[in-house]
Amino acid sequence: MKFNRLTKIVLTLGMISLFGSSMTVLADTVKVNASNLNFRKQASMSAEVICTLPRGTVLERSENLGEWSKVTIDGGSGFVASRYLQTVQSISGQQIPQKEELLTNTSYASVSCVVEMKPEYLYAGNSKINSGSAILYQSNSQDRKEKTVCVNAGHGTKGGSSVKTLCHPDGSPKVTSGTTAAGATTAVAVSSGMTFNDGTAESTVTLKMAKMLRDKLLAAGYDVLMIRETDDVQLDNIARTVLANNLADCHLALHWDSTTSDKGCFYMSVPRNDSYRSMEPVKSNWESHHRLGDSLIEGLRAGGSKIFSSGAMEMDLTQTSYSTIPSVDIELGDKASAHTTEALEKLADGLMLGIEIYFSK
Ligand SMILES: [Zn+2]
Repeated sequence: MKFNRLTKIVLTLGMISLFGSSMTVLADTVKVNASNLNFRKQASMSAEVICTLPRGTVLERSENLGEWSKVTIDGGSGFVASRYLQTVQSISGQQIPQKEELLTNTSYASVSCVVEMKPEYLYAGNSKINSGSAILYQSNSQDRKEKTVCVNAGHGTKGGSSVKTLCHPDGSPKVTSGTTAAGATTAVAVSSGMTFNDGTAESTVTLKMAKMLRDKLLAAGYDVLMIRETDDVQLDNIARTVLANNLADCHLALHWDSTTSDKGCFYMSVPRNDSYRSMEPVKSNWESHHRLGDSLIEGLRAGGSKIFSSGAMEMDLTQTSYSTIPSVDIELGDKASAHTTEALEKLADGLMLGIEIYFSK
């Protein structure tokens, strides 16, 4: 969800006067006591849902209308059903609500929303695993970029390798061989990923990397769509891509390759294949995928990370076959690469540099 700056400033000023020492108005601090509470534009069951709020989210209630409550989260106001709210405390002039209480998983976001697949999203019907939800974070930085980066921790969908989905939206066959051979029209919905030489699962490392990148992005003023924050999210590669298409400005899927040579970083570029490059949505987006991929490699290189070959390898992926926003699968090394916190920090800094390069172009 996106709030414009002016609204935010006006509402912030409103909050200051509300909590001013001369005021006697009481505002409630309430907590969400439901698993996913709908945050709506109006006080009505038929009103548009802005986002859903996870259990435990702390809100300021400015008006209790009985069945509905008007609540504010970091300057954005909307309505939630009162019966799912629990009063935390009453606050008066002396007590300002603790900003930290609004946070869920990171200290760099002011709002986090649970987001789910909607059947009306383009290509949603091609997804087979989509009961899970992603999390959309709004940066609390003073310098908001008004850009949302989708951070997709590769793999991590239980049962994902026993379900197959169409490689291409139009059902045409894959043009290169990877996990799935060229010529196939379906591929596993989400593969389980490789195992590092030291026995660590790729999905564990991609998740650690994703959280690190999330915090750096939020701190720098980017909003972040996190596809996965636990070991298992029931979202296949198509669902992940469709969510990114609709809620983000670019999409980075984080992976490590299955070779054992510690070959360095590269991104999966769009194959030089006429039929593939003339198929939508690849046709309209492959050049922007390359601009994003090239920027990330430039950032990683500048950050001192090892780069494999030219930094790109042609691959027909489900992700890029369905992407309508700039989107890349970035491979940050392979089975032999170090994945200590220090190693991941260096990669995350390189990716951040790459994202800044991409958006400054
Ligand atoms: Zn992978």
